[in-house]
Order: sequence, then C-alpha cells, then structure tokens
Amino acid sequence: LRGLDLIRDPNYSKGMCFTLQERQLLGLQGLLPPAILNQDQQERNERLFYRTIMQNVELMMPIIYTPTVIVVTDGERILGLGDLGAYGMGIPVGKLALYTALAGVPPHRCLPILIDVGTDNENLMKDPLYIGLKQKRERGSKYDALLEEYGGNCLIQFEDFGNHNAFRLLEKYRDSYCSFNDDIQGTAAVAVAGLMASLNITGKSLKDNVFMFQGAGEASIGIAKLLIMALEEQGSSRAEAYSRIWMVDSRGLIVKDRPAGGVTGQKVPFAQDHAPIEKLEDVIKQIKPTAIIGAAAQPGAFTETVLRDMAEFNERPIIFALSNPTSKAECTAEQAYTATDGKCVFASGSPFRTVTLGERTFHPGQGNNAYVFPAVGLATVACDIRTIPEIIFLESAKALAALVTKENLSEGRVYPPLSDIRDVSTRIAVHLAEFAYRNQLAYHFPEPQDKARFIHSHQYEIDYENYIPPLYDWPGHSTKL
Ligand code: NAP
Ligand code: MN
Repeated sequence: LRGLDLIRDPNYSKGMCFTLQERQLLGLQGLLPPAILNQDQQERNERLFYRTIMQNVELMMPIIYTPTVIVVTDGERILGLGDLGAYGMGIPVGKLALYTALAGVPPHRCLPILIDVGTDNENLMKDPLYIGLKQKRERGSKYDALLEEYGGNCLIQFEDFGNHNAFRLLEKYRDSYCSFNDDIQGTAAVAVAGLMASLNITGKSLKDNVFMFQGAGEASIGIAKLLIMALEEQGSSRAEAYSRIWMVDSRGLIVKDRPAGGVTGQKVPFAQDHAPIEKLEDVIKQIKPTAIIGAAAQPGAFTETVLRDMAEFNERPIIFALSNPTSKAECTAEQAYTATDGKCVFASGSPFRTVTLGERTFHPGQGNNAYVFPAVGLATVACDIRTIPEIIFLESAKALAALVTKENLSEGRVYPPLSDIRDVSTRIAVHLAEFAYRNQLAYHFPEPQDKARFIHSHQYEIDYENYIPPLYDWPGHSTKL
C-alpha cells in the first residue's frame, strides 16, 4: 500500500503520525499537512480507538458496554431492558469492541450480527421511525432455519436472546458448533469466580454456603449449574450440591409442590422440598442464606429488610446485585454497605462508585461478563478449540478468582480492578490454553510449548508498526569503482 490507498486504509493508516521518512518512501508527501504528530496527540483511527479504550478501561467500559452490549443477538432480551428488536445491534458491536480492547482479538476478525425476526415490543411496532422489521417475532421453523445459516468456521457467541431460545439454542448447538451463550455461561463463570474469591473474606468453603437466587432465568440458572459443578469437583455429592441452592422467581420460592402451574423447564432440578413462600423478605427470614444473588431485573428487590437480615444471619453476608443496567440493580452499593454496616461482600453487574462509611472506604466489585468472554474467545480461536465444554467456564472462574489479590480483598473487592482487565483476560486465556492442550480440547498443532507467548502472538497490537524495513550500511569502498 502506498499514497492515497494507504492513507484511506483504516487498518494501516497512521494519519498525521507518518514520519518524514515514511512520507517520502511511501509517496505520502503532499497528501498530509506538514505537521507530524505522535500517537498521544492524534485524534482518531482504529488503533487509536482501542488504545483509548485500553488505557481508560474503567471510564470507557460503561460507554461501550451499558447502553447495549455483543456478537449475535436477535434483540429479544437486551440487558434487563427487554425486547429492543433491531435496536439490539449495539450489543454485538459493543461486545466485539471489548473482545479487541480487553483480550486483543483483532477487530477485522470480529463480526457483529443482529438477526431481525421482528419484535413483540408494542411501542416499537407503533413507532413510525422504528428501523426494524415491523412484524411479530418469527418463532417457528423459519426462525430455526434462519439460524442454521450461521456457524461454520467461527466462534459464535449467543447474546441477549430471550430465555426460551437461549437455553434451547445452547443445548442444540453446544456439542456441534463452536459456540457458547454469554448470558448463561459467561455470567456463570464471572459470578462463580466472585463467589470463590469471597470465600477468602468469609473464611468459609464453598459447600458451607447457602445460595439464594432472586430470579431463575438465564443468569441464575447458569450460575447455579456452574456452582453445582464446582461443588461436585470439591467433593460434594450431587444431592448435597443441589440442597445448597435456592431460587425465587416471579411467583416466589421455587419448591416442589408449588400451586398453580408448578415448576417447569430449567427450574425443575432446583425445586426444593419446602412450603411455598411468596415474598423474598420472608424467604430470607426462613432460609437464612449466606449469599444472595440478584438477577431478575427487579430494581430495589434487595430491600433494607433483606440486607439487614442478611447481616444479622451472617458475619459477612454475600450480596451480589447482578441485574443490568444500573437502573435495574437490586440495590445500590451504598444501600448494601449502609444496611449491613459495612459487613457485606458486595458485587454488582453495573458499576457503582466507591462508598465511604465513616473512616472506611469500600470498592464494590463489578461482576461483569467482560472478565471472561473475551478470554474464552481468544483462547478458543487461538488454540482451535472446536466445541466449548462447560468445564472451560469452571476453569475460567477458577483462573479469575485466583487473580484476586490479598490487597484487592482487603479493599472489599472480589474481582481484580477493571483497570487491570487486559492483563486479566490474557492470563485467563493462557490458563485456558494450557488446560485445553492438557485435556485434548485444542486442535491447533503442533502444540505451542510456550502458551503465554502463543496467546500473545494472537493479540492485536495497539502500537503502530514501523514500515521502514531494517536498513544497513554498505562499506564505502565497495560503492566505488
Ligand atoms: P431472564 O432469563 O429473562 O430471567 C429473568 C428471571 O427473573 C426469571 O426467572 C423471572 O421469573 C425472574 N423474575 C421476574 N420478575 C421477578 C420478581 N418480581 N421476583 C423474582 N423474580 C422475578 O433474564 P436473565 O438473562 O437471567 O437476566 C436477568 C438480569 O440479569 C438482567 O437484568 C441482566 O442484565 C442481568 N444479567 C447480568 C449479568 C452480569 O454480568 N452482571 C449477566 C447476565 C444477566 P419467571 O421465571 O417466573 O418469569
Ligand atoms: Mn447479555
């Protein structure tokens, strides 16, 4: 590439950062203003975009992530906001930006897809300016046939699908396509990592906990299933593991003999032998969990009573308010720390500022999927992992939990600070690469001996390359006749 072609190519152009030498050698003189900038002074281009995100992860994450978030969606369940139809497109776009910014997956290898099959959102249907298909959601065999169009030689991240399709498509494709569902499996890994790290604060082992989920959807069921796997790995029987996990859905505590409609689908194995209880507050009083995990997009569900009771029943109650966006959180960080007098181990899905109580300052952790999915994606693509078994998410959780330092814990964090997330993603990816080769899950051969170096070699560089080839001197006497 030379001249105008080079300047216009977003992959290679450095804009006004081309050096004088480069300008001369590459035919750029006269095409650029005379000033020569460095990368710190420059305003925009692709590398610069990711450089800005990577250097300001904490500031930029909400901007990329919260309004929308991914890879392939049909827009039916965007965050906790419901059916946004074609406006769900920001989700795949935003999530892919995180793939590049956080794990270094090259941007030209990422493709955002929104499958527009209509919307059941009445307001959008009535909106004359709505940009998507104005029809009820297609749900039958045509929908399934359309999805079959995707796949092949790539990693598919299912994101923000409605509950029914999310579980159905995961089961349908998990063993036959290189795919995973981020809302179920990514969430699970991040939440389980936070729960594992919290053990270092509470001094308990995983099996000494009683987990109460508010919500029994993609997030909660995903987390609960991974918890079962973790508990079993640590020696609990399946029955013991299930006995530790309780769930509340829109109709109250999930119990075996629930009147009217009972318990169906994914919830069945989690139904406990107990009398029905409707209100979360009453559930907490009776079951006395050690940890409550909110993922029902019901803002304010963790009332002051719930929080106070948790602090009364536990020395260090675990409070995870995972619903997104911030407006849907079960409680704020401040409410959690205040009501529990600073005793709780708190994490949330959306960001909250630090909270000060008297002399003490608390740093709420952000249990954001972004800690895991970019690393899973990077390791999968680099190592050529063909399908992604559940154990990959358990390994991700363990690797993430292991990266929480004593210092993090002393500040109340159960996740590494978001500012370290690039390094965290890389380390998780390296761990997954080692695991994948050890367990015959990787198909990139020959097996690279140095996995860290191998992973690095697949990561996108944010610094400009030098286009000048290595130059050398020529002995003066040889140039003369
Ligand atoms: P989902 O599959 O639609 O499930 C929602 C669940 O909430 C359902 O089980 C529903 O009960 C339950 N629910 C609704 N109203 C309730 C109420 N008043 N009381 C108790 N439960 C109630 O959604 P999802 O994918 O699990 O997502 C839920 C939330 O979690 C969203 O806000 C999402 O943003 C958040 N999330 C956060 C992360 C993260 O990284 N932090 C990751 C994934 C999801 P029924 O089953 O009875 O309808
Ligand atoms: Mn999502």
